[in-house]
Amino acid sequence: MNCPFCTSDDTKVINSRSADDGAAIRRRRECANCGRRFTTYERAQFEALMINKRSKRKEVFNPEKLLSKLRIACNKRPISEKQLREFAYGFEDEIQTPEISSEEIGLKALHFLKDLDEVAYIRFLSVYRDFDSVDRFIEEIKQIADNPIKP
Ligand SMILES: [Zn+2]
Repeated sequence: MNCPFCTSDDTKVINSRSADDGAAIRRRRECANCGRRFTTYERAQFEALMINKRSKRKEVFNPEKLLSKLRIACNKRPISEKQLREFAYGFEDEIQTPEISSEEIGLKALHFLKDLDEVAYIRFLSVYRDFDSVDRFIEEIKQIADNPIKP
């Protein structure tokens, strides 16, 4: 931490205590170069992953929303709640960018389901992709049937 007065990096903490009911740590520091004192606050930063919606609106990523979509696709399929929770709640850690489009989230979820269960995958696909006709949906399923995901 550099001294805000002389910019020297030779500063030390002379006292630290909790502030804002434990939400922050207040540190009193002293500069060894100019002898002046200053205060710093350390607090946890919650940087939310933002979703870029097709409508151009932005929304904070909510793992519960992703989870409920996955649950619908996986209804009565041999996939545990734990598997879905791990994916939904681990999702933010996998994403290295501060923003993601709703399409990308859908694709990642599809990828995840593809490895788990074909039926859940197709269900999710039918909701996620806006098929304009039943024919196109059937075509997509045929493609999957011709190229089985699992041997
Ligand atoms: Zn200084």
